Amino acid sequence: MIRVAVIGAAGRMGTVTCGAVERDDDLELAARIGRNDSLDRLSDADVAVDFTTPQAVKDNVRACLEHGVHVVVGTTGLSDDDVGEIEQWARKHGRNVFIAPNFARGAVLMMWFAQQAARHFAAVEIVERHSEKKLDAPSGTSKRTASLMRPGGEVPIHSLRLPGSVAHQEVIFGSPGETLTIRHDSVDRASFMPGVLLAVKNVASLDGVTVGLERLLEL
Ligand code: NAP
Repeated sequence: MIRVAVIGAAGRMGTVTCGAVERDDDLELAARIGRNDSLDRLSDADVAVDFTTPQAVKDNVRACLEHGVHVVVGTTGLSDDDVGEIEQWARKHGRNVFIAPNFARGAVLMMWFAQQAARHFAAVEIVERHSEKKLDAPSGTSKRTASLMRPGGEVPIHSLRLPGSVAHQEVIFGSPGETLTIRHDSVDRASFMPGVLLAVKNVASLDGVTVGLERLLEL
């Protein structure tokens, strides 16, 4: 049985994650941690899942590693420098961190298909749409899609923040006489749960920091 702490437990993703952990026979919900709770409660857990804010996530990850707890990070907004720093903390404490800007399998496939198509089109742009409550823009998924398609290069990203949205992205390729659109929609937060639970069950057997759900899927 893997004991799981959820940080940001009262938030939209945290609430759905707590429910998914409780329903899984291989997992036990060890702690629901909110903004005002002591992180000492992490001692009851083997793995922590963070769905908080771009401002809080780095300190939370550090606290988890200091408590000897593996971490699954769903919170977006971490920079490459942040990930480098987290890698050092993970090595120091001998625990692993799994970071995914998007836990929906369909979104990971969208990124993979886009990466294949990008070899055949010179022009590509991304349109991403999320709830007006999403704090960061562009989304982590759109930035990752861009870097997979054009490593070290630029891809224009258009970010919409609108009520009624969950997580939506179109990757649009153009060449004379044709366009190709690859589109993914998460219409319910349940779409993220298979990926989150897969990461929770596998993070202990990874090595240091791993980024991207595609690393756990056989693509
Ligand atoms: P949310 O509803 O605002 O929930 C965030 C929660 O974190 C709130 O309950 C908040 O408490 C809490 N929190 C803030 N600071 C904290 C701290 N220092 N310690 C503990 N808890 C803290 O946001 P959400 O929609 O769940 O999204 C959370 C994050 O997940 C965002 O970065 C979002 O972009 C990301 N996300 C990722 C994926 C993915 O697949 N990777 C999917 C969806 C969303 P208060 O209400 O008291 O501030």
